Amino acid sequence: LEGRIIEIRVISAGSKYRILVTRDVTEQKRSEDFRRDFVANVSHELRTPLTVIKGFLELAEDWPLNSQQLKHLDLMYEQVERMGALVNDLLTLSRLERDSAPAAKEPIDLTVLLTDAAVDGRFISQGHHSIVVDHIEKVNILGDIIEMKSAVTNLVSNAVRYTPQGGTIVVSSFFNDEGLVISVKDNGIGIAAEAIPRVTERFYRVDKSRSRETGGTGLGLAIVKHVLFRHQARLKILSELGKGTDFQIILPKDRVEKIV
Ligand code: ADP
Repeated sequence: LEGRIIEIRVISAGSKYRILVTRDVTEQKRSEDFRRDFVANVSHELRTPLTVIKGFLELAEDWPLNSQQLKHLDLMYEQVERMGALVNDLLTLSRLERDSAPAAKEPIDLTVLLTDAAVDGRFISQGHHSIVVDHIEKVNILGDIIEMKSAVTNLVSNAVRYTPQGGTIVVSSFFNDEGLVISVKDNGIGIAAEAIPRVTERFYRVDKSRSRETGGTGLGLAIVKHVLFRHQARLKILSELGKGTDFQIILPKDRVEKIV
């Protein structure tokens, strides 16, 4: 068995006996590693050409072009930006997948984290939604600042993108038995019950065209899930079709410290 990766699961534990199931996952692990590295390499290689194309498109805006040509230029720029966002998300995701160690424990002021996310949300909404920061516990989260910021901002950005104009998004926090809950709640389109377990899968979208229209890469929630895994936290999704969605990040108590 040398060099093999064996997964061991306890399926029944009595007082005298334990039933263990072992499974050789070497091949599965190898192909997952290959997929992850391949995606990371391709994404990395796409970065330079994208930067070059974007640079030339910016230069071209100063050329003496007619309105039709300018329109085409704008369209090209938009698509290059989309591809750039996709490449960045793919790189972020493969970085998170590669790093199986628990996230760092830097103190992150929850007030700053949530108010910053709301500011980002207002920028994305361009004034079309009301974004409210409700109750914030006076605590620090112990985690990776960049990762936690991207997780909360992703949820707020989704809330904006899947809520019709005039809707309300409420960001809040509270304690329950499990730990600290950060809630991002919208009164938008909601998610059908059967789709809820699937939304954190890579590229899973309930409505492909809507997601694309609003500038999504299809990787946001997959990134959130990985970030939370590294923080021993979990994502709870409460949603009702046509009424709205409440995404809750639940952080264990040892990832939270009270500010005195
Ligand atoms: P995308 O870039 O497609 O938004 P995400 O991974 O962020 O990718 O989300 C996956 C899918 O989950 C979305 O395409 C959408 O169908 C659904 N979704 C995410 N957030 C919300 C929300 N707040 N309300 C309704 N649907 C949502």
